[in-house]
Amino acid sequence: MSDIHALETNIWFTDVVLGEYDVRGVLLLGEQRAIVWDTLSHPRDMPGYQPLIGDRELVIVYSHADWDHVWGTAGLPYQNAAILGHRSCRTRFAEDVPATLEEKRSAEPGVWDDVRLVAPKQVFDNSESLDLGSMTLMLHHLPGHTQDSIVGFVPERGLLLMGDAAETPFPVVPEGSPLPRWIAELQHWEHDPRVRTVIPAHGAIGGREILQRNIAYLQGLLDEQPIDVSEPLTAFYRDTHRANLRARGLAD
Ligand SMILES: [Zn+2]
Repeated sequence: MSDIHALETNIWFTDVVLGEYDVRGVLLLGEQRAIVWDTLSHPRDMPGYQPLIGDRELVIVYSHADWDHVWGTAGLPYQNAAILGHRSCRTRFAEDVPATLEEKRSAEPGVWDDVRLVAPKQVFDNSESLDLGSMTLMLHHLPGHTQDSIVGFVPERGLLLMGDAAETPFPVVPEGSPLPRWIAELQHWEHDPRVRTVIPAHGAIGGREILQRNIAYLQGLLDEQPIDVSEPLTAFYRDTHRANLRARGLAD
């Protein structure tokens, strides 16, 4: 079970502790609809939302198809829900998403039995907008961490939901990642004066400085001059930094 916290009026978030890191999802409540931004790692991560959702129409949005963001869907009444993601997010549900679940199930028998893989029913290529009455959630493709990564912006609140497109302290960079585009898209948001609160799925919530730090980190990789990450890091982020350097062909 996860803890649910109020961020501001009608916006809630939940942080789930996984083995090596935490993952965060967000609940946005409109007059008629509720939007769940990521269903997290396991169906048990979700039921706490239900009393808040009440009888609102449920919309689920996947920031991307990595397991820790989409495996909790069966913990919600998803059968009648709208489920949105990027077009390539849906593709992944026929490819790496089931493969990862098979791996986890054989590594940890019993633990993942309740997980149901539920692909997006509605997909988009560049952007999509969801009306919540007094708020709007605007979805934008932001590939880099994965091809299917998106971000969500609530202009009325200055709130930017990053998924894994930005993290604290820095993102996970796969081999072949389109760094120039990733950086340019983050710069676009960093220069948008409407952005006040930045919510990554991993690491502290903050402001536009999170975008600045991620841009600087990615630019360092692109320039083959990695920035110094000598600050105290968890084992996960020490490993991630080394893997990021390897993915760019840079010596540690
Ligand atoms: Zn993640």
